Amino acid sequence: MTYPTTLLPQLIEAVANAIDENAEAVAALDQAIGDGDHVINLQRGLAALLAQREELGLLTWSAAWQKMGMTLMSTVGGASGSLLGTLFLEMAKAAADQALDLKGFAVVFAQGVEAMKRRGKSEAGEKTMLDVLVPVAVYLQSDACTAAEGLTGVQAVAIAGVESTRAMLATKGRAAFLAERSVGHIDAGAKSCQLMICAISAVLSA
Ligand code: ADP
Ligand code: MG
Ligand code: MG
Repeated sequence: MTYPTTLLPQLIEAVANAIDENAEAVAALDQAIGDGDHVINLQRGLAALLAQREELGLLTWSAAWQKMGMTLMSTVGGASGSLLGTLFLEMAKAAADQALDLKGFAVVFAQGVEAMKRRGKSEAGEKTMLDVLVPVAVYLQSDACTAAEGLTGVQAVAIAGVESTRAMLATKGRAAFLAERSVGHIDAGAKSCQLMICAISAVLSA
């Protein structure tokens, strides 16, 4: 089964709602070990995507992700803006004009995450959003992940990824300035990525 881009308006709404519903919690995480603006940055980007959502649903995946990547780059700001923008621009390139089933999407997503790593000069294990995105990309490509099962499994992988950041020492992003004092806190970008992934998987498995 391939996924149609007509899902995009609903996906964007679900993601925006998940971030709005958890805005205080995510803001508090970036206040603790960052500069406190992560949720506001994301909400600015999501408001722009909400305004484009009907239009995006008429495009191919590649064209939609290209447009979303440009929008996120120009509206989100901060470290997360260029990283999330890079994710979508690379997925646009990787998708070309293919129709995407779950495994096709998994390959494209993994390529997007690789581009984020290059952009941020970072790897999983540095207490960032990559601690959610990398294990999710691995899981999506694994045999354990099937259309019938995988979209609930992916939520558990994303939640484990967020929790893993608590014990980590930040070596990238603003939290790295705190060194040992970053230990014991969850990374804001990891949390927001988990919320977005769980919202998307809930729509796709409904
Ligand atoms: P800023 O730190 O510029 O204020 P945000 O608050 O929007 O930007 O985003 C912060 C999040 O970005 C962090 O919580 C972390 O997950 C992520 N991040 C920061 N630097 C990097 C990096 N080099 N690689 C991957 N993710 C990063
Ligand atoms: Mg910040
Ligand atoms: Mg900032």
